[in-house]
Amino acid sequence: MGIIAMKPLGGGLLERADLCFRFLQQHPYVVPIPGISSPDEIDEIVGLYESPKMLTEENWREIEEIRSDLGRRFCHRCGYCMPCKQGVEILDGMQLKARMKRLDPSKLVISERAAMESIEHCIECGECVEKCPYNLSIPDVLRENLAFYKDLAGHNDK
Ligand code: SF4
Ligand code: SF4
Repeated sequence: MGIIAMKPLGGGLLERADLCFRFLQQHPYVVPIPGISSPDEIDEIVGLYESPKMLTEENWREIEEIRSDLGRRFCHRCGYCMPCKQGVEILDGMQLKARMKRLDPSKLVISERAAMESIEHCIECGECVEKCPYNLSIPDVLRENLAFYKDLAGHNDK
């Protein structure tokens, strides 16, 4: 039975397409269905499939570094943490950096404003963390994303 791999680039969070697709190439029955935002991305992925390579030891080390960096921050968008009694839009707040890969910063600042402002109401009660099956550090990531957003919005106003 074949397996379809959705979001092979983690919805835009994983930047190393070479590592993602070479990892999947080890499993010949897996068919990835990546989202594409430019013709260059198609060329890159097709190139990786035209000349498949095994992952090297160095590649595995790089994968492990990425895994440990994202392990407590990678949101799978399952939505189990919602709703927040304080009205924090957790899902959108967690996705800010992934969205940035797809949207122009000036558009992102506008489209994410309400979600990012809602983070100011977080009282760090921890209820969302208890509900998250991946045990993500949700309030910490939200705080970081809010700071990132404010910085972005500041630059955009100049
Ligand atoms: S920690 Fe913050 S975001 Fe999570 S449920 Fe509590 S108030 Fe909402
Ligand atoms: S429960 Fe965790 S993984 Fe799921 S949407 Fe919420 S933060 Fe993301």
